[in-house]
This record gives sequence, C-alpha cells and structure tokens, in this order.
Amino acid sequence: MTLQEFKLPPGFFDILPLSKDLWKDSSLWNFIEKNINSMAELYALKEIRAPIVESAKLFERTSGETCEICDKEMYRFLDRSNRMLCLRPEGTAGVLRAFSESNLLSEGDYHRLFYYGPMFRYDRPQKGRYRQHHQFGVEILGSNLPEQDSELISMLMHFYKNVGITDLKVHVNTLGSFDERSSYLKILKEYFQDLKEKLSPLSQKRLETNPLRILDSKEAEDQTIVLEAPSILQHLSTASKERFERILDLLVALNIPYQQDDKLVRGLDYYCHTVFEIKSGSLGAQNSLGGGGRYDGLLSQIGGKDLPGIGFATGIERVIIALLELSVPPLKSYPCQLYMIALGEREKLKALAIIEELRQKGFKVQLQMVDRKLKKALSVANMLKAEYVAILGEEELASKRLTLKNMASKSQTSVSFDKLSEYLQ
Ligand code: AMP
Repeated sequence: MTLQEFKLPPGFFDILPLSKDLWKDSSLWNFIEKNINSMAELYALKEIRAPIVESAKLFERTSGETCEICDKEMYRFLDRSNRMLCLRPEGTAGVLRAFSESNLLSEGDYHRLFYYGPMFRYDRPQKGRYRQHHQFGVEILGSNLPEQDSELISMLMHFYKNVGITDLKVHVNTLGSFDERSSYLKILKEYFQDLKEKLSPLSQKRLETNPLRILDSKEAEDQTIVLEAPSILQHLSTASKERFERILDLLVALNIPYQQDDKLVRGLDYYCHTVFEIKSGSLGAQNSLGGGGRYDGLLSQIGGKDLPGIGFATGIERVIIALLELSVPPLKSYPCQLYMIALGEREKLKALAIIEELRQKGFKVQLQMVDRKLKKALSVANMLKAEYVAILGEEELASKRLTLKNMASKSQTSVSFDKLSEYLQ
C-alpha cells in the first residue's frame, strides 16, 4: 500500500497546524470558531448540533427535488437496511427537523438557534468551492416582523466585521408571499418560454426545473434576456411591498449599505419575502460569503408547529479566504512554560506525576517524549520557546529537587518538587 492509494478525494481537505496553505491552518479555524461562540453569547443564540447524516427525503421535501443541490450535488446513499440517506448539503432542514423532534417548543414560541459544521455538495471543486465545506448558520423561529429580518442581516454583518472582513456588500430582494412568488413564477416562465431558443443550454434546462434560477445565470447569452425579464417588484401586493420597504429603511437606520437586487432569488424552494446575500470584493468568482432568507411555512412542512422563520448561513472557507486577502490575524502560538527532561525510567515516572499536577494548576508544560542528548533537548526547548527547562536525573530524584534553567537569562537553579509551582508562578 502507498500513501497515494489513500489520497483524499478531490474537493476535500485537511485542516492542519502550521498549514502551508494558510486558510487551512487550524489556528485560524479556532479563531473563527471562537468568534462564532462569542457572537452566540452576544445575540443569545442557542446551539443545535444535528447529525451530518439525515434522511435524503428531508432535503428533497424542503429544498425542492428540482433544486440543484438535491438534483445533482447531494451525496445520497443506501445504508445496510436500505434506507435512503444523505450527507447534509445544508443546515436549515436538519436544524428544523431536530427542533420539531425535540421538546423545545414547550419553551415558548420564539427561538434563536445556531449551528456550525461541515456540509457536503458534489460540485466541481475550485478555489472557494469544496465538496466538504463548513457553515455557521442562524435560524430564528417565531417572528415575522420586518425588524427580525433586518436584525438577522445586521447580525451576519457583525460577524464578518468582527473577524476582520470590511469590503462587504449586502444584496437584498423580496420574493413576496408564496402566492405572489408562484404567480410571478408563471409570468417569468411565459417570458422565458418565448425566448427559449436564445437562452443558454443550462437556462433552457432550468426553464423546466427551476425557472427562478435563470435570473442569477452567469452565462453570457442570458444576460440581456435576464435584464429585461419582468421584476418581482411589479407583482407584489401592497402589504409585501410595504414590508420590504420597511426592511430597507431599517437597514439604512442600522448603517448597513445595501444593493437592492431583483435578480437575487437563491436556489431553494422554501424562501419567501426577504432573501439576501453578502458578497466580498476580495473573493474571486465564488464571491458569495453568506446569505439567507425567510422561510415561513417550512417548519410546518416537516411536521412541526407553524412558526415563521428566517435564517442565514455563511461558508467558513470563504470567510477565511476573504480575511486573508485583507489581513492575517495573529496565528496562535502554543506556549510552553516548562519543558521537562527526565533521564531514566524512575525519573520519567516522577516527571509524569509532576507535570500532571502542574497542569491541574493551569501551567502549560510538556514532558520530553523522545530520548535525546541534553544539547539537542535544549535546542528543542528553544524551538518551543519554553520559558524554563527542568531536568530530572538520578541526583535530582534522590534530593527531590529539580534543576531548573531559565531559557531567557540562561541562569540555573535548583527547586524542590513541592515548591515548583510556586516558583513558576
Ligand atoms: P448556500 O446554502 O448555497 O447559500 O451556501 C451558504 C454559504 O456557504 C455560501 O455563501 C458560501 O459561503 C458557502 N458555500 C456554499 N457552497 C459551498 C462550497 N461548495 N464550498 C465552499 N463554500 C460553500
């Protein structure tokens, strides 16, 4: 067997300490994850961790069977009992399923939830697009106020700004109520049908499966047709129009620069009213950092209570890539206060007990786990930037005192075992 045979499949990657590809450096991921957790505290978000594996039906029902994620990108497989399962392609459906199956509803009718973890999509891998990627998402259930929509958008902006991304643009649109959305869809379909021959092959296919998606086509031959397509804004009720205007006013009040974008639809069937996406100027082709929208009715569709909902999801890979374009946050160091070198078997036994006791007291210590000559051991301690090196040999064991070397001043002293933590303090 060679390592080549066990190579990771394309689109997957390892997150490593001291990664050469900086965006895969585990300490940067730790930095983002800390930000997620502090955001959760600030905004009173409670975490749901649903499994990575779900029933494939969950996503087909919620996202829509014809959406591209389900149709082409989902990792679907039969388990040994012939259940059709999948690796989750997105987070919302699993969170809502977990919510419905839990007793959280008895806690009231308003819930602020978040999730974080890997998602799987079989797409063509490229920079910023992977077959396993990670998302941080928020789902808020129980409010249909426009103020909730703008709070959610400003929450996502807060997250990006907090980690250090500044060149942000919010694109926002409304899809109206479900009735408005479906009558608009008919109008749109008729419009595109008349121009079918001129559409790109991809859009011709989407005309049959998901005509809304033609609006965000990137194909050159579709651009003029899309530009002249009827706009949802002309097919909204007064109430939906006023709701959308209220949200835009709130974004102004919150100092969030936005671009109204009536071609923004997002891919999934479950959205209604507000949809949004936040883009970063420092990302190339894959410039969408995150997005979301309102999904009233989705919870009841999977058998839960009929609570309105709105959520966002942001890709962590893209957040890190965008961040690195702007600045490099300080990478985590792994401090070592004491590097212990024990010279024999009995000495190692004692050293293990001493370092464990020090760790209980919160000291960052390491025991040398490779037998080395003293000179080499000291150079390793230097590389680790250890503050002290402790040597435990036969003599030290007998006298119950360690030889302690201060690595900065190079001075050496002898400290009794029971005074060690006091000395380090
Ligand atoms: P979506 O559910 O498609 O809107 O995805 C939400 C966010 O996840 C996007 O804005 C991206 O930041 C990220 N994302 C989606 N698909 C991928 C992927 N294949 N690779 C990396 N990030 C992704």
